[in-house]
Amino acid sequence: MLFNFKVAVIGGGASGILTAVELVSGKNAFCGKDIAIIERNERIGKKLIATGNGQGNILNAKINKANYYGDTTLIENFVNGLKEINLAEYFYKLGIPQTESEDGKIYPISKQASAVLDVLMKYLLSKGVNIITGEKVISINKETIGFNLKTENNKYFANKVVVAIGGKAGKHFGTDGTSYSLLTNLGHELTKLYPSLVQIKADLTKIRGLKGIKEKATVYALDGEKVLKQHTGDILFTEYGVSGSSIFQISGHLATAVNPNIRVEFLPNYTLAETEKIIKDKISNCTFMQKEEILCGIVNKKVGLQILKEVKNFNYKEIAYAIKNFNLKVTGSLGFDYAQVTKGGITAKNLNSKTFESNVNNGLYIVGEALNVDGDCGGYNLSFAFYSGITCARDIKDKIN
Ligand SMILES: Cc1cc2nc3c(=O)[nH]c(=O)nc-3n(C[C@H](O)[C@H](O)[C@H](O)COP(=O)(O)OP(=O)(O)OC[C@H]3O[C@@H](n4cnc5c(N)ncnc54)[C@H](O)[C@@H]3O)c2cc1C
Repeated sequence: MLFNFKVAVIGGGASGILTAVELVSGKNAFCGKDIAIIERNERIGKKLIATGNGQGNILNAKINKANYYGDTTLIENFVNGLKEINLAEYFYKLGIPQTESEDGKIYPISKQASAVLDVLMKYLLSKGVNIITGEKVISINKETIGFNLKTENNKYFANKVVVAIGGKAGKHFGTDGTSYSLLTNLGHELTKLYPSLVQIKADLTKIRGLKGIKEKATVYALDGEKVLKQHTGDILFTEYGVSGSSIFQISGHLATAVNPNIRVEFLPNYTLAETEKIIKDKISNCTFMQKEEILCGIVNKKVGLQILKEVKNFNYKEIAYAIKNFNLKVTGSLGFDYAQVTKGGITAKNLNSKTFESNVNNGLYIVGEALNVDGDCGGYNLSFAFYSGITCARDIKDKIN
């Protein structure tokens, strides 16, 4: 049987859902019955409900070009486009009021990602949008007018198609990287892909005994000596290496390095000179303590012992230097299965980077993480996914209705 829609959205993740929401909203809105989301999972929004540790860090109030990596034209148009599409206001009007943390992360007030999906689902159902689940699209064929789509069980025809298939990160959410071929078969270019926002494997020699310890630090992603990215936040020592918010933020930059390594700077709120003074005073005030106890009360005790192992001559200068220069050799990452986002994707080469419409297959749009854009941790990736969905839907409405 062949099903017919005006617009078929492939993928019911963040970008696909917002595409459908916008298609049935506002000026030139479609009837819900003309729109379909085709999702391979048994339900839409599976990844969305896991975001922000289940709290739904859906947006960020401090979006800047510097938070994104990949195709610069896509990034620039997106950041400029946010002047026209205020995402926070958009969600507010949909019935999702938000709260903002100090660092600009935006969550629903209830801090429940599942509530965001509930509202979006109810909206789509109230408009009569077709939500087809449990069907993976396996081919897209461009016809003279429109597109024929095949899933394992059904055939669909649509005048316009939005490809919102996500990337390769987190295969248990339906994003295993097998769907890029839908686009490469249609002449779109795919970059090399890397896992980003992911835990890092490191040489365990220095950190084997530190498993489970969390410290605040500034961590530097280095290629040899060259600093690629730095971030201040938590670092968690694990059985495979390091994790934590600061490691997530720098992880994507290590992926492309030839000689990847990490410098951990403990006591990030103190300069080297301040640290030197603290150690100098501690040594003179605590003559009753053993040398190996000298960092007790300054950093975690086990971390302190490990730092002291790095010190050749026991003096305040060398100890302070070791606190600020705890280096780890990177041996890899936990990979795409554990990553939150894909670095790389379909390039802007054959794409209108403002509307997200393909230049080689008119009527086909590509949105979200499938594209060569990835962002820092903190609501940046969902923001791009939502924005691209809304923007492409507006272009479709302008062209069809
Ligand atoms: C655990 C976790 C936590 C995260 N937390 C945050 C956060 O707090 N803030 C933030 O900004 N970002 C976060 N991210 C990243 C963010 O969720 C993604 O960047 C975003 O969801 C991408 O949206 P998308 O629509 O492009 O793709 P996705 O949301 O991945 O959706 C793609 C959908 O397409 C479906 N699909 C794929 N191929 C096919 C096919 N052939 N046929 C039919 N369906 C198909 C998939 O099943 C999936 O449902 C997190 C990611 C993970 C994994």
